[in-house]
Amino acid sequence: MKAPRFHTIARGMLCLVMTVMAGCVKIQPTSPPVISKRIQMHMGTLVTVTAVASDKNVSDRAIQAAFDEVKRLEQLLSTWRSDSELSLVNAEAGRRPVQVSRETLQLVIRSLEIAELTHGGFNIALGPAVEAWSVTERQHIPEKEELRRLKPLVDWKSIQVDSERRTIYLPHKGMRIDVGGIGKGYAADRAVEKMKQAGAMGGVVALSGDIKTFGVVPERRGFPVGIRHPRQEGALIAMIDLTDEAISTAGDYERFFERDGVRYHHILDPQTLQPARACQSVTVIAKEGMVADGLDTGIFVLGPEGGMALVERLPEVEAIIIDGEGKMIVSSGLRDRLRTP
Ligand code: AMP
Ligand code: MG
Repeated sequence: MKAPRFHTIARGMLCLVMTVMAGCVKIQPTSPPVISKRIQMHMGTLVTVTAVASDKNVSDRAIQAAFDEVKRLEQLLSTWRSDSELSLVNAEAGRRPVQVSRETLQLVIRSLEIAELTHGGFNIALGPAVEAWSVTERQHIPEKEELRRLKPLVDWKSIQVDSERRTIYLPHKGMRIDVGGIGKGYAADRAVEKMKQAGAMGGVVALSGDIKTFGVVPERRGFPVGIRHPRQEGALIAMIDLTDEAISTAGDYERFFERDGVRYHHILDPQTLQPARACQSVTVIAKEGMVADGLDTGIFVLGPEGGMALVERLPEVEAIIIDGEGKMIVSSGLRDRLRTP
């Protein structure tokens, strides 16, 4: 994961539209569940945790458990901390395999599966190219020659994972694994598990636009989530109610700069190492946040046609794609579920 980016605060892709959730609200006089919400900065973004529980002690404990889990994963997965497991793997690139925890190994294996599914559209080896662009930090358009030299370093197929020895080996010096494109969705999944263990009966963990919901929300069919218009700040294109589902959006409006009328943004096409151009935003709904987070980026690169074909093939995965011209394409399982904002 990257260094904290405080400028992303205002750029949440999806807005959690739960006005009743400010503070702590009693719903029924007889068996009153409480709803509590807290916001903190982690993983370079705003993390909002909402808990539904039988009493305030339980909801407070559940919220704390969620934040503790996000903080733990930030340490485990970040690549800006030199002592994290993935930083060690990266430091030993071209030299030796590095043993990692089961959890890190599993996350890398699942990331490689999403790379396969999206024909390399989602690519955890893209770090050197992401750095060459440094879209928010330097606003630098790399020379073609520089990108050409980086190409062998972003080859995710060359990543060697040995499940028995629990090692990961990057065969070329300068290669790097960066799970920034999937880590927030994974953190939302894990934080929700901790909330359930702490006794919450429902809730939401939202790391900016990576949102996971679970359980009940009193007097509603689900947790209402708004999907942002990619070109009109503050406007929504649709609303949807979610329960026991995750939602994640990749958009070209999140981190970008413009030069000579051209938008350069943070989602790169691993083939060209240029910003991917076929979509303005891709929202994926899946059971797991990790899957939604990885797929949104991968589908953004694949484009509307290949991306939607993939979504229709996958069970329990839905998507809303805004193509390069601003046209909205909705997967078959979502058409009856979207509401106008
Ligand atoms: P997300 O926050 O899930 O939209 O992921 C975007 C981040 O993932 C970017 O800021 C990059 O660090 C990284 N990234 C960019 N392009 C890709 C890609 N094609 N595959 C995987 N990660 C990417
Ligand atoms: Mg993503």
